[in-house]
Amino acid sequence: MNHDPNCLFCRIIDKKIPAALVHEDDHAVAFEDINPKAPVHTLIVPKKHIADIHSITVSDREIVGHLFFVARTIASKKGLDKSGYRMVINNGKDAGQTVFHIHLHLLAGRAFSWPPG
Ligand code: 5GP
Ligand code: ZN
Repeated sequence: MNHDPNCLFCRIIDKKIPAALVHEDDHAVAFEDINPKAPVHTLIVPKKHIADIHSITVSDREIVGHLFFVARTIASKKGLDKSGYRMVINNGKDAGQTVFHIHLHLLAGRAFSWPPG
């Protein structure tokens, strides 16, 4: 597994930094965002260190698709299938990416505006 010892999310995956884990399997983890932007704010993260969308390779397609499967499983467990939810990936500087290890934000528990800010 490709890990970066200087990466915050790799350190959470390695359990070197604590996080409120809601899911773990061979390829992904999910944990609660430390600074939630909505009543539900969960991050779904591949165990493999992939810095951003443009670093995804052909062999990563299954891992990246798996993130959506984990997200919908968590959304079901949290009872969000009726109310709805938003899934977000901030990629790069202009989108506000701050942690350069790709992650899917699962946000719910309030209404979201569109277009996003
Ligand atoms: P980005 O801005 O890269 O799309 O999202 C990074 C997210 O990681 C932010 O929502 C931020 O609150 C969250 N975050 C940053 N540091 C930590 C941490 O140490 N633990 C947890 N659980 N979340 C973090
Ligand atoms: Zn990483």
